[in-house]
Amino acid sequence: MLKLDTPVRYIKGIGEAKAKAFARLGVHDVGSLLSFFPRAYEDRGNLLPVAKLQEGEAACVHAMIVTEPELSRPRRGLDILRFRISDASGAMYVTFFNQAWLKNRLVRGESYAFYGKVGLTGRTYSFTNPVFEPLSEAGRLTGRIAPIYRLTSGLNQRDVSQSVRRALDELKLSIPDALPDAVARDNSLCTARYAYENIHFPADARALSLARRRLVFEELFALVCALSLVRGDGGKESGIALRRLDLSGFTSTLPFAPTGAQLRAISDCVDDMCSGRLMNRLIQGDVGSGKTLVAAALIWLAAENGLQSAFMAPTELLVEQHYATLSGFLAPFKLKVVKLTGSMGAKARREALAALESGEAALAVGTHALISEGVEFRRLGLVVTDEQHRFGVAQRTALSAKGERAHVLVMSATPIPRTLALIIYGDLDVSLIDELPPGRQQVDTFAVTSAYRRRLNAFIQKLSGEGRQVFVVCPAIEQDPDAPTDLTTAEEHTEELRRALPELRIECIHGRMKAKPRDELMSRFAAGEIDVLVSTTVIEVGVDVPNAALMIVENAERFGLSQLHQLRGRVGRGSHKSYCVLVSDAKNGEARERLSVLTHVYDGFKIAEEDLRLRGPGDFFGARQHGLPELLIADLGADMDVLTSAQAAAQKVIAGDPKLQNPENRPALECARRLLAVTGERLS
Ligand code: ADP
Ligand code: MG
Repeated sequence: MLKLDTPVRYIKGIGEAKAKAFARLGVHDVGSLLSFFPRAYEDRGNLLPVAKLQEGEAACVHAMIVTEPELSRPRRGLDILRFRISDASGAMYVTFFNQAWLKNRLVRGESYAFYGKVGLTGRTYSFTNPVFEPLSEAGRLTGRIAPIYRLTSGLNQRDVSQSVRRALDELKLSIPDALPDAVARDNSLCTARYAYENIHFPADARALSLARRRLVFEELFALVCALSLVRGDGGKESGIALRRLDLSGFTSTLPFAPTGAQLRAISDCVDDMCSGRLMNRLIQGDVGSGKTLVAAALIWLAAENGLQSAFMAPTELLVEQHYATLSGFLAPFKLKVVKLTGSMGAKARREALAALESGEAALAVGTHALISEGVEFRRLGLVVTDEQHRFGVAQRTALSAKGERAHVLVMSATPIPRTLALIIYGDLDVSLIDELPPGRQQVDTFAVTSAYRRRLNAFIQKLSGEGRQVFVVCPAIEQDPDAPTDLTTAEEHTEELRRALPELRIECIHGRMKAKPRDELMSRFAAGEIDVLVSTTVIEVGVDVPNAALMIVENAERFGLSQLHQLRGRVGRGSHKSYCVLVSDAKNGEARERLSVLTHVYDGFKIAEEDLRLRGPGDFFGARQHGLPELLIADLGADMDVLTSAQAAAQKVIAGDPKLQNPENRPALECARRLLAVTGERLS
């Protein structure tokens, strides 16, 4: 008797080799086999008499084998099995290539159901490599909507669908069901049994759509529950109420006037922090819009209220940069700022920890080292995370847990639709910084082909001669034998540039390097000791090198528009005229149209919309980008409407049972645990 955790090895028909192949697809036990959803479907329902077939159309035929299947081997490595079939209306040929073993399974005089694309052999219709089954079993593989699964070597469609069939038949009633009955009822969802049956073997199109809706709902329901459990929602609505201060105390010390958008964002946050409710706010602003200043103003307000702040960034390099910037903003107030990273020495770390614990330090800027054990604050009142999608939900929560009811501010340059933001951050408010600081120059952008290589190299030389620096970004690290060979890799490209521009200092930085040498190279670049830095997208996240005036992106068609926009935001940060050159030899018109958007649109939000329109939501909101668990069936872009109802349902359940301890909510808890296990986040 199969159970959900029975290894697939014990399903009839799966031997050791096939079990290994399944493992490569992430399928280990019966449960994961059931959740190995088809990647597509094929409608094999078009049942026709032979006389009514149309060449080029797929159809299903019920017919008898009328000639002895004949095997020929015209040359080594090629087997041909050929025979005629016939029904009351006419006859046709069937041919199989390299499936000699089928000779014993296809018997003259017996009837079968065949499905395939109709071809023409001479003047007679024919099937090549059709799907077939004995007529007595028709309806299992043919004559229906059939699942198409992702495969790997050693497994074919028949192996997978038969294994799923057996698992479904043997499991009968013990199909996993994460939804409380009331939720399924209120949302008119089909039963779990029906859903798993029809997602694999749909009775018809309507059954498939009901099944899919149920499974998407269930997954999103579990996701909302999981994130809410990680955040520990519920009972945290009240926050420390701060004393309101005149902001000019802070702004008057700045070397420039804040923009209107910055002031609005600051004032939204101040309202939150002084209201007595807990702040949970997302600040969205394009690269260079000045988000750091907003954080600095709030850190100042917290410090004046006797509260400490923590500012978390994803890399050591960014920490260095924020540490320098924030120290500068806070210097007039004699506030102590400490730094905390994984690579710092024991003594420096001890001193930083002591300053935080005693309350002497007003601010800690750090990597996720901030959430490690032993980091204690005397009175943490504000938690800021930058470039948030690099952090998992649990990491953000762990940081706020260092304080008691600490206010939370998240800063992001990537526009996220509100529904998606809601499930990632919980119930949060959003402020937009929709204005760049004055005098910010536009980074003139050009899309060119590699025919411009020599002119481009001459341009690099000219800018270097003027003392400027150059970023070059390539999409891949080394040649991948499976990938197209015309991809420019960072390492190869570095060599080429060194040959073309021997007098320049050219270095290569990539994602496979250890953090330390990588940060070292970046720091040398920032210090002006390197002229041209060739890299993979590791530099995508906000480093500030005001002297960099040219950004070249190779194989630009491989990047998303928003990503390209972020990349070009790395230049044009100083007073020098800056440029971005997108190099692409892509032939197709769509790719060229995409790139040309960047040559005349300079607004990050408009670009994000355009990206969404051109690439579709699935790609744009890749779950990975946001530190969310990988979803099996739901598509955060396309299933927004289901998301909204799943979220409402989950919130209702959580409100009545915050830890999902009631028996009817236990399955949802289990499902939530499984989702989180994938991202390594754990529930307490
Ligand atoms: P981002 O939103 O990308 O994090 P930053 O906070 O790094 O942007 O700011 C980008 C640059 O703009 C910094 O050098 C910062 O000092 C500068 N800046 C921020 N606000 C203003 C302003 N109101 N006027 C002029 N420069 C500003
Ligand atoms: Mg920034």
